[in-house]
Amino acid sequence: LLERFRQVLGHDCVIVRPEDLAPTLREWRGLWQGTASCLLRVRDVEQVCTVLGLCHENGIAVTPQGGRTGLVGGGVPQGGIVLDTTLLRAIRQKEVANDSLTVEAGLTLKETQEEAAALGRVFPLSLASEDSARIGGVLATNAGGVQVLRYGMMRDLVLGLEVVLADGTLWKSLKTLRKDNAGYDLKHLFLGSEGTLGVITAAVLRLFPRICQRHVALLGCRDLATALDVAACLRETCGECLSALEYWPRFASLCVQKLTGWQDPLPHASPACLLVELSSSSPVLPLRAILETALSERLERGHILEGILAQSEKQNVDFWRWREAIPEAQGVAGASIKHDISVPLSRMASFVERATAIAQRLCPQVRPCIFGHLGDGNLHVNFSAPEGYEAEDFLALWPQFQHAIHDCVATYEGSIAAEHGIGWLKRSELSRLGDATTRDLMRRFKTALDPKGILNPGKVL
Ligand SMILES: Cc1cc2nc3c(=O)[nH]c(=O)nc-3n(C[C@H](O)[C@H](O)[C@H](O)COP(=O)(O)OP(=O)(O)OC[C@H]3O[C@@H](n4cnc5c(N)ncnc54)[C@H](O)[C@@H]3O)c2cc1C
Repeated sequence: LLERFRQVLGHDCVIVRPEDLAPTLREWRGLWQGTASCLLRVRDVEQVCTVLGLCHENGIAVTPQGGRTGLVGGGVPQGGIVLDTTLLRAIRQKEVANDSLTVEAGLTLKETQEEAAALGRVFPLSLASEDSARIGGVLATNAGGVQVLRYGMMRDLVLGLEVVLADGTLWKSLKTLRKDNAGYDLKHLFLGSEGTLGVITAAVLRLFPRICQRHVALLGCRDLATALDVAACLRETCGECLSALEYWPRFASLCVQKLTGWQDPLPHASPACLLVELSSSSPVLPLRAILETALSERLERGHILEGILAQSEKQNVDFWRWREAIPEAQGVAGASIKHDISVPLSRMASFVERATAIAQRLCPQVRPCIFGHLGDGNLHVNFSAPEGYEAEDFLALWPQFQHAIHDCVATYEGSIAAEHGIGWLKRSELSRLGDATTRDLMRRFKTALDPKGILNPGKVL
């Protein structure tokens, strides 16, 4: 079969030498080690069809890979072949009048944003991994990021999709329509399916008008409950202009300070911090005045302890840099145990209190570092080891933490996988906590689309 792959793809696109294969088998943080007999680099959709047809015929497992930035081990192969989609790089169609851009799966998210900018438009999905993450991977994980509040997740930014099915059949639905109720909307099956239902080869993406003005503020509050109250008020007053609402506790700020040496922009060491962004594509909207009015009301009531409104685009960027440094900065506090969850906003303060108490019962003196996309109800419920604690001893508690925190999420009718998916990491948790009928339906879709179970085995289900 290797010979057949070489005939179809050329010798240089069939990688079998262990030293060349090694990086694609290992998860980028070294958390998981996979196995595969070869890596195939595909250059066009016809090659994807042929490779999948051959694998289907011969019952060979296929793990699609994009930029390999995923955080749940979804791209780590469990045998068979790895399908590298990064050479699928064509821009199929640019339609300014239609506010749409049709790109192939191997383009990076950053390159896609740049293509949109060159058309005088915005593709708004933005992640810290955008230089490496590919459109195919971002679609397959239904990624979120920092603009979800305004624009939604990847699922909300797609008009059409092209997918190669498990047996090599091409499903091409690259429509650029906003409205299309002609039967089931099949593209949504593949978005967020983490490579288990088909290989995404191209997509029609929605573009938006360019942003003309944005205003960013950093606010200090007494606690999460007050921050949530301020957030609710901002949603009401600022409406669709509110484009981001990020939250972090003082502990996270101390970590950023320690990592970067930067001075904390909030001088009074408030326990809870909020980053607020308002933006608009209209140059005439009095955005700053809207923000000032909303904030002054909450300042007067004492809900905001301190606040600072960026005075320039450079300061906007600096405030965002502070927020974006948090995931890395948590590392300076030693080992950490992480969860990516969402709960209804109405119950978030109570959930965080309960989750913190659970963690403290499991490990007294644990240091909570719970931060994230407050506006979307999505928090990274992370805990740093107590000072002086051995990393290995703390990380050994991960299964107990995960079990207890996910149980708590279930009690609050939340999700154990808000952003990063199920992949390899949370498969058993989905099976433990997921609704039985939902899981049964998922299995039935999987069997219908991939009867031999060759697509990304061991993931999700
Ligand atoms: C620093 C950092 C910050 C991040 N921030 C965020 C964030 O804010 N929000 C968020 O949602 N995520 C975030 N992520 C994770 C995010 O899921 C990935 O960055 C991205 O969405 C995956 O794209 P990729 O090309 O790297 O895919 P990979 O990691 O290669 O693959 C991910 C999954 O998709 C499948 N897949 C890949 N390509 C295809 C394809 N063409 N067809 C079918 N299946 C495919 C793989 O089999 C795998 O299951 C972050 C990651 C990092 C490292």
